[in-house]
Amino acid sequence: MHNRAVAVIGSGLMGGGIAHVMALGGIETLLYDLDRARVDAAIELIGKNLGRQVKKGAIAADQRNDALGKIRAVDSLGDLSAARLVIEAVPENAKIKEAVYASLLPHLAGDAIIASNTSSISITTLSGAVQAPERFVGIHFFNPVPMMPLVELIAGDRTDQATLAFCENLLTSIGKTVVRSRDMPGFIVNRLLIPLLNEAAILLEQQVTDIASIDTAMRLGANHPMGPLELSDFIGLDTVLSAAEVLHAGLGGDKYRPSPLLKRMVEAGWLGRKSGTGFYVYGPDERAHNPLLAEMVQVA
Ligand code: NAD
Repeated sequence: MHNRAVAVIGSGLMGGGIAHVMALGGIETLLYDLDRARVDAAIELIGKNLGRQVKKGAIAADQRNDALGKIRAVDSLGDLSAARLVIEAVPENAKIKEAVYASLLPHLAGDAIIASNTSSISITTLSGAVQAPERFVGIHFFNPVPMMPLVELIAGDRTDQATLAFCENLLTSIGKTVVRSRDMPGFIVNRLLIPLLNEAAILLEQQVTDIASIDTAMRLGANHPMGPLELSDFIGLDTVLSAAEVLHAGLGGDKYRPSPLLKRMVEAGWLGRKSGTGFYVYGPDERAHNPLLAEMVQVA
């Protein structure tokens, strides 16, 4: 069934990870990016990450070599005509995504399915930009793709059952666990997770307690592997904020209103681990509470 190629458009953080899991699952994978250097960098990184999996004993050395042999860099959308499924992972901007579909459509096979890895744009809206909306679907992977077992499969209003079944089979065949969702803001995971992370910032804002207590409470009281503030720092506060804004814009109501403290932190450039400062400050070996946060809490 999966003897035809999967194409991945966009070789950034997510596209590289998606190509990794497709190839490791034995699927011929075509990788394209506007910037060819990013395809080469992605393939190099996939090689390193597969090597790490070999070292950990998660896969055999042969599997690493086989997977690398399944990935082919392509320089033009015209090279994607063999693909049965095209997964788009370009930046989170509807205009960019729709322009990609427009350039792609003349080159695709008649039965090709187009999937978007969007986290927040409506699948039904995006499907308006393609000729066959019944073969347009959301396939939402989680970062880092090779480590995270879950994929959300999102049906737009016009996606047909054959498309959903094809994608679910393919994703299951490469070892992912699929959950299906209707096309609503945040799908399942972000709809549940983001309000928790946002509320943790609001607890801090209202000076109900301190950073360590919030994280300890959820680790030891709810058995979460990470507390909500450390998890926010890990995900990136800008990403958490924009997801909260999507829920608020799409679902309305005070329930989803982004925390003012979170907004101020992002404005200050405190983005969590990736900027070195968030709810915690990160040194080379250890982390401490952000000492400047108390002042911001007073203002927020
Ligand atoms: P990224 O910035 O790391 O990668 C995007 C890639 O797309 C870049 O390599 C860029 O050169 C390329 N690109 C830009 N315009 C293009 C075009 N017209 N044609 C082909 N390639 C083009 O972004 P990312 O984090 O990998 O996110 C990609 C998508 O995945 C977004 O829709 C995002 O919302 C979604 N997503 C991201 C995450 C995450 O944690 N980062 C998680 C789930 C879903």
